[in-house]
Amino acid sequence: MTRREIEGRVLEITRGDITAQNDIDVVVNAANAQLLPGGGVAGAIHRAAGPDLERECRPLAPIRPGQAVITGAHNLPNDRVIHVLGPVYGRDKPEAELLASCYRNALLLADEEGLSSIATPAISTGAFGYPLEDAAQVALTMIINVMKDMSSLELVRFVLFSENDRETHERVLRKILS
Ligand code: ADP
Repeated sequence: MTRREIEGRVLEITRGDITAQNDIDVVVNAANAQLLPGGGVAGAIHRAAGPDLERECRPLAPIRPGQAVITGAHNLPNDRVIHVLGPVYGRDKPEAELLASCYRNALLLADEEGLSSIATPAISTGAFGYPLEDAAQVALTMIINVMKDMSSLELVRFVLFSENDRETHERVLRKILS
């Protein structure tokens, strides 16, 4: 886990499971357009949250690439879930702008809701095929950019599923800050 102070806010990069962030107000779901369980992050989040999350999501679907919507967290150890739809790499264009919008919209929505901490996985880098290092560059650049506009949000935690993914994000962050 690494922790840096940026614009008076904290940015953490850690290896872990997005469904096990017990000390965090809101977690980001790498959702599909229909806000259904599916695989990867969405599968894990819906499994941990229980079937009431799917019921709450139904009237909010479909969402567009880059869009963010908020629900309760049900049986997850958090207060809320923000569902974003990342771009499918090579299909939804311009992919960098759409991916950046996911992070921007998720952070601004959490801030508007008065939440103080958010954890996010690496959107679009699983089933949606976005190359990890390019995705990390887009995500971290936008997160740092939004940090100066946050009022209630004090902590942004990037949760990576593998040690290799964590190292890549750490390296990209060092490059951006240097
Ligand atoms: P997308 O469809 O947006 O690509 P995925 O859920 O397939 O979303 O994967 C996004 C990223 O999240 C991938 O890097 C994947 O390894 C990672 N991931 C999968 N499950 C979890 C989890 N439980 N916690 C954190 N990250 C996860």
